[in-house]
Amino acid sequence: MRNPTAFLKTEYDVMVKDALDWRPKELQGMSKPRARMAGKDVLLLCANNYLGLSTHPKLINAAIEATKKYGAGAGAVPGIAGTMTLHTKLYEALARFKKTEAAMTYPTGFAVNAGLIPQLVGEGDLTISDQLNHGSIIDGVRLSKTERAVYKHCDMADLARVLEEAEKREKPPRRILIITDGVFSMDGDIAPLDKIAALGAKHGAMVYVDDAHGDGVLGEGGRGAMSHFHLTHKDVHVEMGTFSKGFGVVGGHVVGSRDLINFAYNKSRTWLLSSAQSPAVLAACIAAIEVLETEPQHVQNVWKNTAYFKKAVNDLGFNTGNSQTPIIPIICGESHKARALSETLWSRGIYVLPIVFPMVSKDSARIRCQMHAQMTQQDLDFAISEIEAAGKTLGIIK
Ligand code: PMP
Repeated sequence: MRNPTAFLKTEYDVMVKDALDWRPKELQGMSKPRARMAGKDVLLLCANNYLGLSTHPKLINAAIEATKKYGAGAGAVPGIAGTMTLHTKLYEALARFKKTEAAMTYPTGFAVNAGLIPQLVGEGDLTISDQLNHGSIIDGVRLSKTERAVYKHCDMADLARVLEEAEKREKPPRRILIITDGVFSMDGDIAPLDKIAALGAKHGAMVYVDDAHGDGVLGEGGRGAMSHFHLTHKDVHVEMGTFSKGFGVVGGHVVGSRDLINFAYNKSRTWLLSSAQSPAVLAACIAAIEVLETEPQHVQNVWKNTAYFKKAVNDLGFNTGNSQTPIIPIICGESHKARALSETLWSRGIYVLPIVFPMVSKDSARIRCQMHAQMTQQDLDFAISEIEAAGKTLGIIK
């Protein structure tokens, strides 16, 4: 008799054999630069908590007080009975922070891309996506009947070519959507959003940015990639982001025109059919925005650390690709080299994961270092000297 679930174990066993399974180490306390992981005190070099807001006392207190006042859960999906006063406050705070008309939140950033993209485009439309866009964008596009095209990473001539070809067709697409990460998550480079917006305007295309790694980091006071390029929602029509990285909490968001938010409310199934965020999460997100508006030092510190660390590893001869942000990859080449670098660093008290195929191409495996506003000079110097020693031992640098 056929065993209908046999594939579960066989497929997992293959992943283990090829060392492609995930083996997360347990974080046994707060996400801070000096952290306890799997029974060891280490320097945590691969967290998305760029500004350290996840452990900021104002966020922690806001979450505690909100739980006492509003309870542990919202009790419903937001469209039925789950829209709490804190949701309204968060939407207002986010619209104010982003200097735009309207905002809304989703359970996660992934849920924004999975829920909103398939409503913006469908049959008869064309979606044009950067080659290195995040997996949640790829899945969001796959959930739609839209035709897809991929342009070479940040290559504006290639994007222009796809747009021109679409325009020349006998029956041009009903709608065109250009979609890009604001900051690319594996490389730390910034999308040329100003040029993308100009091409979009020229060809009457909608422009959508996923600013998960730009939020809290880029632009005026951490307002993101659009602020970095001085763009408005007339140039880039859909801006999504997440509270899970620079903001230090969890949850996705969309900001833009009132028309966009009304549409998203009523159409995205990941908003309509998924339970509302809990009061603790909402209050912590509101507090994160208030911290960004009143304490500019966090954004300044993460950039100071980024400049220092990047220059040091570049001077040592490491390849950091086109990194322009606190995401600083150290590109090693083949996957076993990146794995060996990660393991050597772990043995020396640094936790930084290898990123290998299929997340990056086979010949550009790397460790992805991410800066944190509260890393001290001592932390950075420790990381740099250990990376230097390990890089020399493994023949990554001379
Ligand atoms: N987009 C990008 C570019 C991301 O890096 C991530 C997080 N890995 C997401 C979307 C999803 O965000 P969230 O963690 O809030 O689901």
